[in-house]
Amino acid sequence: MKSARDLAIVDGRRMSHEIIYPRDGGVQSFWIAPDGTLPPMLARARGVEVFDASGRRYLDVTAGPAAVNLGHGNERVLAAMREQAVRATFAYPSSFVSEANLRLGAALRDLAGPPFEHAFFVSSGSEAVEKCLQFARRHALATGQPQRHQVISRNPCYHGSTVATMALSADPVYAAYLGSHAGVTHVNAPWSYRVPDGISPEMHADECAEALRAAIVGLGPDSVLAFIIEPVMGFCGGATFAPPGYYRRIREICDEFGVLLIFDETISGSGRTGRFLAAANWPDGRPDLVVLAKGLGSGYYPLAAFLAPAPMVELVARNGGFHLGHTYKANPLGCAVADAVLDELVAGRLMDRATQRGQYLRDRMRHACRNNVLVGDVRGMGLLNAVEIVADRETRAMLPRKLDVLGRVKSLALSRGLLIYGRRTHGGRFGDWIMLTPPLIVSEAELDEMVDGLAATLADYERELAASRG
Ligand code: PLP
Repeated sequence: MKSARDLAIVDGRRMSHEIIYPRDGGVQSFWIAPDGTLPPMLARARGVEVFDASGRRYLDVTAGPAAVNLGHGNERVLAAMREQAVRATFAYPSSFVSEANLRLGAALRDLAGPPFEHAFFVSSGSEAVEKCLQFARRHALATGQPQRHQVISRNPCYHGSTVATMALSADPVYAAYLGSHAGVTHVNAPWSYRVPDGISPEMHADECAEALRAAIVGLGPDSVLAFIIEPVMGFCGGATFAPPGYYRRIREICDEFGVLLIFDETISGSGRTGRFLAAANWPDGRPDLVVLAKGLGSGYYPLAAFLAPAPMVELVARNGGFHLGHTYKANPLGCAVADAVLDELVAGRLMDRATQRGQYLRDRMRHACRNNVLVGDVRGMGLLNAVEIVADRETRAMLPRKLDVLGRVKSLALSRGLLIYGRRTHGGRFGDWIMLTPPLIVSEAELDEMVDGLAATLADYERELAASRG
């Protein structure tokens, strides 16, 4: 147990000597890392750098959990935050309309483009996914289809950590948290790196799309409400996306049966793939509803939204409305912050930058790890990327599941001053990867530093595994 005495000076201010870290109230007291270590004490952060209380510098390779798209300490956002905070930090939407809410709604309409005229704001990705599904259900009622209630999601997937959003995932880990799968059917997500023997990624993706059709038919088409996917998989699938034909085909299938297609762009949205919505990469995919989170508030304020077309919103509004909410729904401070985030995204041409820097990152990473037998694949789109770690790059065989690959690489990276966030999917059943999702403001020099550090980290791990095999 570390005492605050070890960390006494933060930004020139003395911390209380009484605080025992983390026993006295920190959220870290709710879990114990397998190796018993504790995260460092945060002091301050700027750009892609984070400093701990001892003055040690870390590079934020994953922008936290792919959230801090603008990097830390952006002046435009801090100024907007202060200006709105001085005016009013809170007003509930049923009591007041807020200018910040209207401005953000208009900015999102412009950036997302047709048909997404309206946005419903909440605080987290999990809430936004739930609200989106509830809205879909209200829409089914408004169109006289009360029998539509079943949701189809993919395996693997991750859509949040509330009881309902956990239930969307087939990951057995969530069963321990009431993540009951009742009412949710899963179809396989297509992979690009490790596809079944003897078929191309395109054929594999076609099979996955046809599995959706079979699932809808099996459930009874009139009972199916929605199909939800992450168009580019985040932590659950290591930046995997499908060939274009997949998005076209799932759209056709949803149209055939009147099923709503939802894109959860919690990670892939807000510019990270180089387009404001990843959906724009597949014009034939056309989701009906889209979820945004993480990069929308960029770590400055917890803000998330679902986007919907005007005809759907107007129909629901005329038929009982959709005003379920959370206390911080469309909070003016959050909306002002996100509006400034979007201003910065456009003014800094950060989406073009994500495309260019993403290519640079993948090229550099492939080159730096070309001799490391553990590096099977480097893939991604824009600044949503992953490195797949394998036992054998020729056969693409996975490392044994009993190895905590992600946990070990994270801690080796931390010792080199690199912050990597990751979540292991199904205990490694689909493979192991680390995400490379830096802030969109990252410079080439900072990417070089990240790549060199990661290549050295993966070389450490390669040596460690070779030594353990004797
Ligand atoms: N959807 C996706 C695709 C996510 O990756 C996440 C979080 O990682 C969520 C939803 C949940 O977002 P939040 O953690 O803000 O509730």
